[in-house]
Amino acid sequence: MLSDIEISRQSKLSPIKHIANKLGIEPSELSLFGDTKAKISLSILNRLQGNQEGKLVIVTAVTPTPFGEGKTVTTIGLTQGLNAIGKRATACIRQPSMGPVFGTKGGAAGGGYAQVVPMEELNLHLTGDIHAVSSAHNLAAAAIDARLFHESRLSREEYVAQSGIEPLNIDPKQILWRRVVDHNERSLRNISVGIGENNGPVHDSGFDITAASELMAILALSRDLKDMRRRIGRLILALDTQGNPITAEDVGVAGAMTVIMRDAIEPTLMQTLTGDPCLIHAGPFANIAHGNSSIIADRIALKLSDFVVTEAGFGSDMGFEKFCNIKVRESGREPDAAVVVVTLKALKANSGLESRHDINLPDMERLMAGFANLKWHIDNVGQYGVPVVVAINRFPTDIDTEIKWLKSAVAETSAFGCEVSDAFGEGASGAEVLARAVVSATQQTSDFRFLYPLDISMEAKLMTIAEAGYGAKGVTLTHEAKQQLNQIKIMGLEGLGICVAKTPLSICHDPKVKGIPADFELPIIQFKINAGAGFITALVGKVMTMPGLGVRPGYLNIDINEQDEIVGLA
Ligand code: ADP
Ligand code: MG
Repeated sequence: MLSDIEISRQSKLSPIKHIANKLGIEPSELSLFGDTKAKISLSILNRLQGNQEGKLVIVTAVTPTPFGEGKTVTTIGLTQGLNAIGKRATACIRQPSMGPVFGTKGGAAGGGYAQVVPMEELNLHLTGDIHAVSSAHNLAAAAIDARLFHESRLSREEYVAQSGIEPLNIDPKQILWRRVVDHNERSLRNISVGIGENNGPVHDSGFDITAASELMAILALSRDLKDMRRRIGRLILALDTQGNPITAEDVGVAGAMTVIMRDAIEPTLMQTLTGDPCLIHAGPFANIAHGNSSIIADRIALKLSDFVVTEAGFGSDMGFEKFCNIKVRESGREPDAAVVVVTLKALKANSGLESRHDINLPDMERLMAGFANLKWHIDNVGQYGVPVVVAINRFPTDIDTEIKWLKSAVAETSAFGCEVSDAFGEGASGAEVLARAVVSATQQTSDFRFLYPLDISMEAKLMTIAEAGYGAKGVTLTHEAKQQLNQIKIMGLEGLGICVAKTPLSICHDPKVKGIPADFELPIIQFKINAGAGFITALVGKVMTMPGLGVRPGYLNIDINEQDEIVGLA
């Protein structure tokens, strides 16, 4: 089979303005970036106000493994399959970060014959939104440091006389806003800034990857530009010497940050290999942030299509839980159906049994043991009242007897349906049966419910996520976490939702525990207040906000060939 980039390059693309036209976007609502990409003006939402919305399908998965479960492949493949059976469907996905592209994971445009094309444009700069987020983020870092510098070199009177504003009395030990860059840069995780004469005061800082910026979560959760402006104003950048929060509004930088992100608020339209529309917008992580593409892209797509297929990061305990408890609360738009992606090897890897041989080879014992993980995710999605379709993402090495067994095992669960998807190998036709099952699932009455209400205490919310969301016995809080919880209450932020930042590799907090973890308490070590995005992140163990490059990074394979074409992009 051809590589992803070869398939992408050989595909016959339609001019993006034709894709837009077919979707019902007017030329005046489109900013073209060449022939393959276009941004969509938010003014379209006013024009389409009266349109009925299509059905919203959320794609999630079993507990992730290093082999890749294929959520993006299934999201794109299902969109292609829905169009192939005559439904108007649009995919909405996150913009990939360049960190994983040059690191280990590779791109995030799907794969095989289920891709967004041109895949290299999606995986690299696209229309510059990630640069805009980085730039706006780093302006705030520069602003707080400049403020600190001038306030510390001048007396209060001098400062007021020269600047015309009151000093903020920033505590250099309490600067909460770090820097971001869109690369895997281990060496920048912890840095000191302000070193050298007249650059100070010296204080600790560090870099996170741009996807971990709170601004990225804001981009994904904002309803419009004014809403984004308000959220940026609420960002807490530092504390003053009395311990009071200093916001981007206080620093006076919120307006300028919004201006940098003004174009980023427009989703980018691209196409799948079969010329179906795909909106790409925002790329927040699914641990420290909520891991879903934007509310704006969904709203536009829902007004223009019968079906919108979108993906939530990691397993259903992570991105899907946050989709429901964070994104749906902000968007007001509940999903009509969920697709749980599973692969034979993911179940074997999640079985907790030692591998006797290659994971691609048949192994009924491990498959049967690993099935418990799929069952857990089906039930987990089910508790939100959303009909579940299981998609078995077929790999070339899969054998029919194992697939048959898996289908019959799923038939005994509460899942509405279960179909094989071979979108990777066959494209649209490989996802038609899945598409039909998903259409039927969306015709069921969905009885959506949140896991927890917002108006209970933080402790009660945490307890509910831990118990109902992961099957824990309860939660434990470190001394620091308890103090922070008090601060959250004092700041009047107890009404926010919770985003748990835990490992995606297990349902519990310990990545080594496979299967269905039992008899454990969820240890909360710290909170991070995301007042702008509008949720409190509860950190369970150490969470990576800046990946590092491995010993054999992806960039080693990437180059341009004699024809000036990109090679090696996976
Ligand atoms: P996720 O969105 O769940 O992280 P992706 O859809 O990005 O996963 O897929 C992860 C990797 O696995 C990609 O490189 C993709 O091309 C590959 N992959 C996914 N499904 C298949 C399949 N059915 N056969 C072969 N490779 C696949
Ligand atoms: Mg993905």
